[in-house]
Order: sequence, then structure tokens, then C-alpha cells
Amino acid sequence: MVTNLQARDAATVLHPYSNLATLPRQGSLILERGEGVFVYDVDGKPYLEGMAGLWCNALGHGREELVEAAAEQMRKLPFAHLFTGKSHDPAIALAEKLKELSPMKAAKVFFCNSGSEANDTQMKLVWYVNNALGRPQKKKIISRIKAYHGVTVASASLTGLPNNHIDFDLPIPGVRHAGCPHHYRFAEAGESEEAFATRLAAELDALIEAEGPETVAAFIAEPVMGAGGVIVPPETYYPKIQAVLEKHDVMLIADEVICGFGRLGEWFGSTALKMKPDTVSIAKQLSSAYAPIAGVIIPDWIDEALTRQSEKIGVFGHGFTYSGHPVAAAVALKTLEIYERENILAHVNGIIPGFQARLKALGDHPLVGEARGTGLVGAVELVADKTTKRSFDARRAIAAKAVGFAQDEGLIVRAIGDAVSICPPLVITSAEIDLLFDRLTAALDRTEAWAAAENAR
Ligand code: PMP
Repeated sequence: MVTNLQARDAATVLHPYSNLATLPRQGSLILERGEGVFVYDVDGKPYLEGMAGLWCNALGHGREELVEAAAEQMRKLPFAHLFTGKSHDPAIALAEKLKELSPMKAAKVFFCNSGSEANDTQMKLVWYVNNALGRPQKKKIISRIKAYHGVTVASASLTGLPNNHIDFDLPIPGVRHAGCPHHYRFAEAGESEEAFATRLAAELDALIEAEGPETVAAFIAEPVMGAGGVIVPPETYYPKIQAVLEKHDVMLIADEVICGFGRLGEWFGSTALKMKPDTVSIAKQLSSAYAPIAGVIIPDWIDEALTRQSEKIGVFGHGFTYSGHPVAAAVALKTLEIYERENILAHVNGIIPGFQARLKALGDHPLVGEARGTGLVGAVELVADKTTKRSFDARRAIAAKAVGFAQDEGLIVRAIGDAVSICPPLVITSAEIDLLFDRLTAALDRTEAWAAAENAR
């Protein structure tokens, strides 16, 4: 039964990433409050937040210090901008802190409001800087199939998922998609992880050669693909890819929107995965999602090119009203302070083994073809036949079914294709991890029973 509030919701809110046809019949899960790793719906039912919202709410709910940081900044200076020679302390202090933490030698930080804006900015910088450097033909950006980099026109073009392109008339020209480093799905029969990584690097090399290295400017990659289905590349993948990029003078953009700030047990996924990025996109856990803020960290050579260009034309013509919004910046700064004070990296590294052990154990479940993950992120891919890896008929929406059962069990997880993804707040405890996997197992058992009863295989 759809409640009155659900009916009002369905009648008025155009929901992102939802099935707009079925939503009015099913009704949204309407949340009211949160405490720690739990959120509560309008009827008071608690749910363990197994996705940290959208891979972002690292510190969980109810952090008074963050509320205070926002309130204090709102009282003092609720808004100020960074345009036309203005600045403010929260933006300066946050940029300094990010330079210190950066996985590459950083010159400056450009602030924006979302991961999509960060990656849009990345594309614009690639174009602008290559014009400034006098090589206007070097503009193409290579992303990867199944990559997720956002939904604005440029970032959705970088995204490598059909639903973000079909009927949106995307991708825009100048974007290419290389192979996805998902061994389980894309390796050839008998191909080792190492051989698979070698082949992907060779294919990237061939793609750049075919396009003409003088036309290819950048390669963008998430250390571990999140919204594409939690795809952990083979261990030697990035060193091999990096060698190809260096050979052709193609810069590496690391999208750290999910992996940044502790998700993989280090400040950044780049170091965990042995990437050497030229620039980095950050968002989400930067503020533990208490306020929208994102950024692009740039190196000296880009900063210098931008400065030289300003000398010529007078202005760097890019920026958002809320670039470095003082309230969001103050919240982000406080978030980073809490990460350090509470030694969040040590906590995450302490719980990773237990999390990964429970995750990988799900590989024995009759529905699970692959249980994959690293750090504090994972996914289980549901298959109709474990031996042949045959998927369920897409119309069965098997992962969505499992996610529905999980919700019933008091657990929020997310369906991505046939995979169920898990990305809990970084502050989750071992006992809560057990609860998460107990509930997920119950949901998978119910999904298995449903599949059998429906003859869904
Ligand atoms: N990059 C990555 C890796 C992401 O996961 C996301 C969001 N899930 C984005 C970019 C886009 O961020 P936003 O939704 O804040 O625009």
C-alpha cells in the first residue's frame, strides 16, 4: 500500500536514478532521521546503511561537531565567493589541507559542488590547457566501459554506461572508452589476471595508436570502479596502463570521488592501487556528505599554463557560484580533522579483514557468481548458473529483488545491474559488519527461494 506521503512524493519529485514507471506503485522509502550507521524511515523502522548513502556518508549520522562547524560558519559568514579576487578562510585552509594530503604533488585546488562538476572541470582543463600549451589537436579523453564519472554533459560522456548515454545523445565527440578491467566478466577462457592486465594495456596502446597519440590528451579512471559495479582491477593493471600513458604523453586523471578519504584504507585509492595521477577529482567523503563540496587538485604544470593564459587574456573563465562555499568548506575541513583525530585509516584497516572475509564467504552462496571487493567496498554478482556464469534474464531484475528483500530485513544496499553493492560508513564496527552480512545473507536466501519458486533460472 502506498501511503499518502509516498503518493505526494511520486506526484511531485522527479527522482534521479529511479524507475519512473514503477515508483508510483511501489512508493519511495522515505527516511526521516539517522544515528551512526543507521537510518530510520517515517514509521521509525531502522535500517543499517550499507551504502553510506551514495558511497559518501563516511562518519555516519548524528555528528554534532559537523553540525556545529556548519552553524558557526553560517553565523559568521554564510556566503562568500572566490571570484574576482575574493577569498575566505575556510577555502584557504581546506585547499592547504588537501595539498598536504594529495596523492600527487599538488599546486592548487579548484572547488566545485559535485563529482560531476569536478569531472566536467577536468575535461575543460584538459582542453583549455592543451590550447594554452599550443597543441590544440591533443584533446581526446579516454575513459573505460562501465566507468562512472557523473551525469553532466561532459562527465556523463566519460561515464561508460548505456543508461547514461542512450537517448541523451551522448557521449559528446572526443571521448573514447577502453576495456573494463573486470576479470570475471571480460577475461578470455583460461586467461590469468596478469595476462588480462597485459592485454588491456596492449589494447589501450593500440587504441591510442589508432587515434593518433598527438590527439589523445588524457585517460580518466577510478582506482576501483564503484558505481560501475565495484570492479577491482588486477594488481598489475595500473602499472601496465601507466607505462602506456607515459609512452604517449597522455595524462592520468584519477577520479577519487568514491575511493578518496579512506575507502580503501589509505587517504587515496591512487596510492592503494599504484596509480600516479596528474590530477585528482574529489567529492563525497571529503565532507562525509554533510555538505555538497568537491574539487579538482592540479599540479604545477597545469597551474602554470593557466596562469600564463590569464596573463594573455585576463581571466580564467571558469567557476561556480558555490565554488568553495564557506559552509561546505568549513564542514569538509572539520571532516578531515575528525578523520585525523579519530585515526579513521587505522580503524578502517582494522575492520577491512573481517569485512572482506564475510564478503568473500558469500561466494559460496548458490546465487553468487562472484564476491568481489577491496578495502571497505564490495559487491556480489548474482548469476543463474555459477559454473557457466550465465546471468538471469534481465527482466527478472534479480539484484533489485535482493535489494528489496534486504530492505525488508533492515539493510540498505544497492543494485547495479546484477550486482548488489556494499559500501558502509567508514566508522562501522565489526559487530555492525556482522549484522550487515547476516541481513544480506538472509536477503540472498530469500532471493534464492524466490528464484526457485518463480522458476527464474
Ligand atoms: N565520479 C564517481 C567515481 C562517482 O562515484 C560519482 C557519483 N557516484 C561521480 C563521479 C559523480 O558525482 P556526483 O553525483 O556528486 O555528481
